[in-house]
Amino acid sequence: MSARILVVEDEEKLARFIELELMHEGYEVEKAFDGRSALALALEEDFDLILLDVMLPQLNGMEVLRRLQQEKKVPVILLTARDAVMDKVAGLDAGAVDYITKPFAIEELLARIRVAMKLSGMQKLAREAEKAAALAKESAPEEGVMTWEALRFDEKRRRVTYAGQEIELSNREFLMLGTLLQNRDIVLSRETLLEKVCGYDYYGETNIVDVYVRHLRAKIDESFGVKMIQTVRGAGYVIRSEY
Ligand code: CA
Repeated sequence: MSARILVVEDEEKLARFIELELMHEGYEVEKAFDGRSALALALEEDFDLILLDVMLPQLNGMEVLRRLQQEKKVPVILLTARDAVMDKVAGLDAGAVDYITKPFAIEELLARIRVAMKLSGMQKLAREAEKAAALAKESAPEEGVMTWEALRFDEKRRRVTYAGQEIELSNREFLMLGTLLQNRDIVLSRETLLEKVCGYDYYGETNIVDVYVRHLRAKIDESFGVKMIQTVRGAGYVIRSEY
């Protein structure tokens, strides 16, 4: 897609001349002939760059620039009169990326437009990269934390909550829940769970596993109206991913 440029210039012949040159370079061009309509257009539509004359009827270019800067980030090149040094300084202070003094050679204007576009493109890329990094950071799972629906299992802090509500678990219940969450969608046999929860050297009935599952169901499923731990007949237990 070609870049869009708004040309704001009350001398219509000059505006038309700039428009033709820019179109020849492949830019898409809109024109405005006074400050008020320029501001309205610039706020309403998205432009990649604005060429803004300073001496304008209704609202001068400096005022347009100031109001525009409060609303959006768009590179602005000011068109200033030859001796208006104050305009140049004030314009750059107000956020213009560049200025060009009238009368100007069209090649110079085109060169400055290219530079301004390139800079703003790089800034845009940098901003987007920053945003993506911030988003990634936000959505990255915390280390040692597993979740299932509103359940949050925090291994490091040894803390389990459902929708922010604390769930008190014994050590073995905690281990069991952690093991099931870690192996989500994998059916774990009673023997496997027993090993994980009670250790290899535990001699006893595997139905102790059923007891812990019952405890967990009472504390989670029944308290919060969910069906988290599922029984797979003849095979064992599983926590399935949310759908
Ligand atoms: Ca003018």
